[in-house]
Amino acid sequence: MKQNKKILPDIFIRTYGCASNRFDSQQLTFDLINNNFFVYNQSFGSDKQFFRDKYESFIASKVKIFIIHTCPITSYLEKLTNEFIKYLQKINKKAKIILTGCSTRYKYSLLKRKNILNSKNLVIIDLDKIPYYLSKRRGQTSKCEVEFNHFEPGTVLIKKGCNKYCTYCICPRICKKFRCLTFQEILSQIRQLKSWQFKSIEFAGPCIGDWHDPFDNSLTFFDLVKHILEQTDFRITNLELHPSDVPNELIYFLKSEKIDREISIPIQSGSDRILQIMNRRYNVAYLKKIFKKLFTKIPDLRLTTDIIVGFPGESEKDFKKTINFLKQFPFFQIDVYSYSPRKGAVVSSRRRIKVEDIRRRISRLKEDRILQKIINITSL
Ligand code: SF4
Ligand code: SF4
Repeated sequence: MKQNKKILPDIFIRTYGCASNRFDSQQLTFDLINNNFFVYNQSFGSDKQFFRDKYESFIASKVKIFIIHTCPITSYLEKLTNEFIKYLQKINKKAKIILTGCSTRYKYSLLKRKNILNSKNLVIIDLDKIPYYLSKRRGQTSKCEVEFNHFEPGTVLIKKGCNKYCTYCICPRICKKFRCLTFQEILSQIRQLKSWQFKSIEFAGPCIGDWHDPFDNSLTFFDLVKHILEQTDFRITNLELHPSDVPNELIYFLKSEKIDREISIPIQSGSDRILQIMNRRYNVAYLKKIFKKLFTKIPDLRLTTDIIVGFPGESEKDFKKTINFLKQFPFFQIDVYSYSPRKGAVVSSRRRIKVEDIRRRISRLKEDRILQKIINITSL
C-alpha cells in the first residue's frame, strides 16, 4: 500500500504469519483510516528483510505508532520478530510499539519474555481494541488520501480457526473458535475490496478448500470460486490448499485465466509413517494421484510445496522417502522448514531429532542436483 509521499503516515503496520493475519491487518487499516488516521500497511513484507525500500525504511523511522501483527507458528519466526523490534527501537526511539495477533494469545510466546515486554514504549493490545486505544491518545490528525498498491491482492477471510489438529501445529490451540463465514459475508468483503479498487484477491483461513456455507452445506468452495470468476472482475491469487481438500474441480478452475497458476499444496513429508504421526489425513499414494493429475492437465502449473525436516521420530528412511517423492514432480518451489517444537502442540514432547542431524538432512537437499535449484530454506 503506497501513500502520498508529502505527508507521512502516523501508523505503520507490519504483519507476520498467514493470510488470516494479513486479513486482520487489512481490516484494521480500513478501521483506522475511517477514524482519520494515516496508515501505512506493509502487507506482504518479507520475514527476513525488514523493509522493502528506502521509502518504507524512512516512514518506519518517523511514525508515531508501530503495530506488529505477530505469529508464533515457529520459534524462528518469533526470533525474527524480536530482532525487528530491537531494530525498530534503535531507528525510532519515540515510536510506541503495539504487539497484537497470535503470539500475544500464545502462552509460551518468546515475545512475552520479560526482557522484551519490559522494554520501553512497548505494549500488547488485542486487535479489536487498537482503534479505541489509539483514538484516546492521538493528537491532531487530519484525514488523508490513501493510495493502495494494486499489484498486491486484497484479502478475503472465508474461515476462522482450524479443526484439522496436525500434531505439530499450535494454530487450532490459539484460534479456538472454528467457523466458516457465510457466502453473503464473503460477498460483502469482496464488495468492500472493490470499493477500495483492488484488482485481485487472496483467500484467508486455514484449509480453505473445505469451506462451505454454514447455512447451506451444498454451497462449497467450488461454488464460491466459480461465483468470483464468473460474476466479478477479480483475479484470484496465492491459492493455498491442504492436500486433503484439493477439490476435484481444481483443474477446471486453473483453466481460467483469472486464477494464478502459482499455487501451494504443502505436503510436509513423503513418508506415510510420518504423515500419520503428523495427523495429516492423507497418504503418499493419494498425493501422487493428485499431483500426477495436476501436472498432466495443467502444464504451466507453478506448484509450491512445504516440507518439515526433522519431525520427531523422522528416520533416515523417512527422509529419503520425502526426497524421492519431491524428485518425482516438477515443483516450482519447495519451502523447507526445520521442525520447530512449540509448547502446546501434541508432538512437542516427543523424542526430538538432533539439530546436527537436521542440518545434515538440509545440507543433503542443498547438495541434490535437482532439488538445490528449487528449495527455499526458511529456518535453521
Ligand atoms: S499462529 Fe497460525 S493462525 Fe496465527 S498467524 Fe500464525 S499461522 Fe496464522
Ligand atoms: S491444517 Fe494443520 S498445519 Fe494447517 S492450520 Fe490446521 S492444524 Fe495447522
